[in-house]
Amino acid sequence: MPISMAREQEILKLPPPKRPPRRTAPRIGIHTSTAGGVENAAERAWRLGCSTFQIFSSSPRQWKPYDLGPKQCAEMRRLREKYDLKPLVIHASYLLNLAGGNPEFYAKTIAAFRGEVERALALCADYLVVHPGSFRGASREEGLARAAYAIREGAAGLDLAKGSLTVLVENTAGAEYSLGASFEHVAALVGVLREYIPVAACMDTCHIHVAGYDIVSPEGYQATLRQIDEAVGLANIPVWHCNDAKAAFGSKLDRHQHIGQGTIGTAPFKRLLNDPRLAHAAFIAETPIDQPGDDRRNVEALKRLVGNSQSRHHKSR
Ligand SMILES: [Zn+2]
Ligand SMILES: [Zn+2]
Repeated sequence: MPISMAREQEILKLPPPKRPPRRTAPRIGIHTSTAGGVENAAERAWRLGCSTFQIFSSSPRQWKPYDLGPKQCAEMRRLREKYDLKPLVIHASYLLNLAGGNPEFYAKTIAAFRGEVERALALCADYLVVHPGSFRGASREEGLARAAYAIREGAAGLDLAKGSLTVLVENTAGAEYSLGASFEHVAALVGVLREYIPVAACMDTCHIHVAGYDIVSPEGYQATLRQIDEAVGLANIPVWHCNDAKAAFGSKLDRHQHIGQGTIGTAPFKRLLNDPRLAHAAFIAETPIDQPGDDRRNVEALKRLVGNSQSRHHKSR
């Protein structure tokens, strides 16, 4: 679900932090605005206390991508180096429907996805996150086949491996005809695409929860992670989206909430962030901005959960 940036505070207009923000292992970040130029996102992410971040490389609700000059890409690289910000994750536009039925729209989507890959390569991004799309007007299997073909076609002839770019298929909330709410569908898509491009998965906590997988109870958490591991493989998930949920468990409603203030609550995030099986992953919030400073507070909320009583040095589970 798109996150509202309407009330975003212009952190670049505030004085920069006096000391470098505390860093954590694993890396924690948030979806960050590119207003005023894509390179500004890196400066914002650092000031928000992030060690990784996610951006849109086009307006999420418009087909026209923003201009990406070589100068901007170079500045992005410089700032990422300076602040040790990695990985850089790009979330594809919400307008894309990779599984879409209408031929005209499908062609438009493939061309737009190609633009996403080109911009991700230009920005030296590590990951490009996509939603598998909606299979309305077709069967689920046809939808999955279409999504796989669209990604393959969109990336054809572009050297993702050389650019160290991996496409990540994200699990979804499962509303109506949306593909990817089940871990098996994510795994199926990843499996088909593996032959053609570097591909892995991205898991979103809000989507897992509203799709009806229990991550809230301690036993549920273990069972759900086992399911994810069996279907996709935890090692194949380099990025987790950390979002609490406004809607109820199993509701299939994709509404993100501030960390610890929704129907998921704090404890599951603490388990995730300190789970030794996920130590390789980056954790990125896509939480709403209802009040100025909410972005910084959500980054802080996640960072506070790292270590403490469930220290990474005591792997006693
Ligand atoms: Zn969502
Ligand atoms: Zn997400």
